[in-house]
Amino acid sequence: MQINSLEQLIKTFSKLPGLGPKSAKRIALHLIQNKDNMLRFSQLLENAFTEIQTCNICFNIDVSNPCEICLSNKRDKAILCIVENISDLWAIEKSKTFYGIYHVLGGSLSAIEGISPKNLNFDNFKARFNNSQIKEVIIATNSTLEGQTTAHYIAKLLENADLKISRLANGIPIGTELDYIDEGTLALALKLRHKF
Ligand SMILES: [Zn+2]
Repeated sequence: MQINSLEQLIKTFSKLPGLGPKSAKRIALHLIQNKDNMLRFSQLLENAFTEIQTCNICFNIDVSNPCEICLSNKRDKAILCIVENISDLWAIEKSKTFYGIYHVLGGSLSAIEGISPKNLNFDNFKARFNNSQIKEVIIATNSTLEGQTTAHYIAKLLENADLKISRLANGIPIGTELDYIDEGTLALALKLRHKF
């Protein structure tokens, strides 16, 4: 049986994070019934597809590569914050307490899910510290088991480097992802970061 474009749309939407078949149907129906919205949506998707790039240095996404944060003169290049995902970077930026630079890993190490260092953005990681101004590293991986494992792996990688290595302060509930923490708690955890 050949599925028509509407069914295909619903099927594709239902695979998006946070959407089940019901909400996928509702969105598809809404777009079909509001064609101006639909056109705008498809144009925005196309623009995002062509404009948004991954930064070669920190693996953030932006309309430029290197990203705005890596290019900015206003950012403190001596302090680097390591996060699992871009949503974590956004959460920290929103807390307006960090003015350094980032490294986005693209996930965390997980034996169960078979995610090893080669599946994460570690290719240029050590090279970032060669002849660089970086003096301090904040390991801001999540306080989940995977996040902790990843933090230990990073600390081991950097153990011989002349760096101050810190981890976000406690206060972030165990098992929580940064993205879900309110800005105040995150700002405090950054401020009270401790030596790792
Ligand atoms: Zn960047």
